[in-house]
Amino acid sequence: MEAVTEPAPQNPKPLSAQTYIGRFAPSPSGPLHFGSLVAALGSYLDARVARGQWLVRMEDVDEPRCSQQAADDILFSLEAHGFDWDGEVVYQSHRNGQYQAVLESLIASGTAYPCGCTRKEIADSSLVGIEGPVYPGTCRDGLKGKSARAWRVRVDDEAICFDDRLQGRQCQHLASEVGDFVVKRADGLFAYQLAVVVDDAEQGITHVVRGADLLASTARQIHLQRHVGYPTPAYLHLPVVINDMGQKLSKQTLAPPLENAKASENLCAALGFLGLKPEVGLDRASPRTVLDWGVANWHLRAS
Ligand code: GLU
Repeated sequence: MEAVTEPAPQNPKPLSAQTYIGRFAPSPSGPLHFGSLVAALGSYLDARVARGQWLVRMEDVDEPRCSQQAADDILFSLEAHGFDWDGEVVYQSHRNGQYQAVLESLIASGTAYPCGCTRKEIADSSLVGIEGPVYPGTCRDGLKGKSARAWRVRVDDEAICFDDRLQGRQCQHLASEVGDFVVKRADGLFAYQLAVVVDDAEQGITHVVRGADLLASTARQIHLQRHVGYPTPAYLHLPVVINDMGQKLSKQTLAPPLENAKASENLCAALGFLGLKPEVGLDRASPRTVLDWGVANWHLRAS
């Protein structure tokens, strides 16, 4: 995806601290890399320009893939890059009780139901959606003798639309593009889609700024917000950083960890990726100075 194109829409009007709460929500499955720095920086600048709060949440709901060491490394790296977050860092691994309570309310309202299908049965679905097979609804009306493995949420036969602040209007028809989706997995872990919605609401997040790799998840999150009775935050999906092979930077694609000793250079590169032109020599200033320059010059252009 191209990072930026003309013309530049105006930044939203500055909001008061009460009306903007943003966040950076890394999954601590590895160290911070340039792609996650872009998400941290974009969410941080957008929050600080609005004189809002910026929270950090460790999305370690998928516990076997995450570690405290990786979380500590990420926090250390954020500090080395000059970021200051508001309040305590929240860990999803400590919040299973909250996720279970919301799941129970979804079960009580008939929105969530148990699913006994195996991966193989689902893979045989003839419908292909945005992330592989669309769940064919086999257990929608009961387990029919199967035993419950996972919990799914019913989707409605209508498009979910929202106006992304950067990517423009987005619409997704969950029934044909995703199907009823998992909120608690067969291994007993809560799914990202549920955890992120519960946390964004309970932390009072008003503005989500994150990578466009999550654009396709947003309709599912809005669907859950509507069914639980949560407000929908404003969304802004930043361009995704890709490597020379066209893959998103991630642990799986072996993205190199950020070098903390080069924090200002890294920040200037991330500013450049987001379409800003840091002044000459800024990469030799302190990371705080680079961030302050970012706050003073933050604007984003529609891609
Ligand atoms: N934890 C997700 C990730 O690291 C980000 C989730 C979000 O920002 O909603 O990709």
